[in-house]
Amino acid sequence: MTPVLYLVIPCYNEEQVLPITSGKFKAKLDELVDAGKISGDSRVMFVNDGSKDTTWDILCSLCDENERYCAISLSRNRGHQNALIAGLMEAKKFADITISMDCDGQDDINAIGQMVDEYAKGNEIVYGVRNDRSTDSWFKRTTAQSYYKVLKAMGVDIIPDHADYRLMSSRVLNALEGYSEVNLFLRGIIPQLGFKQSVVYYSRAEREAGTTHYPLSKMLSLAIDGITSFSVRPLRLITVLGLIVAFLSFVGIIYVLVSVISGNFVDGWASTTCILCFVAGIQMISLGVIGEYIGKIYLETKQRPRYFVAERKNISEE
Ligand code: UDP
Ligand code: MG
Repeated sequence: MTPVLYLVIPCYNEEQVLPITSGKFKAKLDELVDAGKISGDSRVMFVNDGSKDTTWDILCSLCDENERYCAISLSRNRGHQNALIAGLMEAKKFADITISMDCDGQDDINAIGQMVDEYAKGNEIVYGVRNDRSTDSWFKRTTAQSYYKVLKAMGVDIIPDHADYRLMSSRVLNALEGYSEVNLFLRGIIPQLGFKQSVVYYSRAEREAGTTHYPLSKMLSLAIDGITSFSVRPLRLITVLGLIVAFLSFVGIIYVLVSVISGNFVDGWASTTCILCFVAGIQMISLGVIGEYIGKIYLETKQRPRYFVAERKNISEE
C-alpha cells in the first residue's frame, strides 16, 4: 500500500508567491503518484493564516480547479507555528504522512522524494536540513549559528539548520497532539518525541516573491521562546549569578571594614556608584528572566485554544 502524503503549507499574505509555487507543489505530488511512491489520494494542503490580501481567494480558485489541492482557513492570523499545527492536525485525519514546508519556494521541493524514500525505509520523522547558508545574509548566518550554540548550552535538543521542513508520520502526529502548549516551538518538541528519525539535506533557495514575515523582532521573540519553552537553565544561571555577586559583596564588606579600621574611609564614591549600578543591572535582568517564565506559566494555565478553523475547501467535515 502506498502512503497518502499531505503537503502542509502555511500561507500568510502570500498572493505574490502562490501563483508561482502552487503549480510546482502539485507537479511534484503528481510525479510521485505516477512513480508509484505515494497514493493518488495525496494532497497539497494550504493553511490560510488569516491573510489580509487575496491569498484565500487564490487558494479557493486553486481548489476549484483541481482536487489535488485542499485548504483550510483560520479565523484570524495566529502565526506560523500555530498555522502549522492547525494544518498538521487537519491533515492527520486523512494522511499517512505529512510534510510541512514554506509556500515561498525556499524549501527545495526535490527533497520531498528523498523524504518519502526515507519514510519507506522505516523512518517516521525526516528532517530537512540546510546544507549551507550561502543564501543568508552575513547577519542572519552569524546570529543563527550563535543561537544554536546558546540553545545547546541551555540543554535544548534541537537539530541545527533545520527549520520546519520535515516529514512526520501519522503516529508521530498522534504523539504531537498530546502537546497542548500554547507557546509552540515545533523545532524543540519534535526531537523530544523519539521515533525512528533521519535527515535529508537540501539547499535553501531565495524567496520566489514577496517578503519575509520574520523581521528581526519576530526572530528574536521566536529565539527567546525557543529557550524559555524548553529549558529552565536561565533560572539556574540567575542563582549562580546571585551567589557570585554575594561572594563579591562579602569580599567588599571585608575591604570596607579594613578601610574603616585603618581610618581610611572618605574616598570611594566611584566604587560605590559602580557597585550600585552593577547590582541594580543584574537584578533587573534577573527579574526580566523570571518574568519571562511567569508570563509563560500565565499563558499556559489559561489553556486557550490555539486556533479555530473557519473554512475548509475540498475537505470533508465529518
Ligand atoms: N507564515 C504564516 N503566518 C505568519 C507568518 C508566516 O503562516 O504569521 C507562513 C508564511 O506564509 C510562509 C512561512 O510561514 O509560508 C514562513 O514564513 P516566511 O517565509 O516569511 O519566513 P522566512 O522563510 O523568511 O523565515
Ligand atoms: Mg520563507
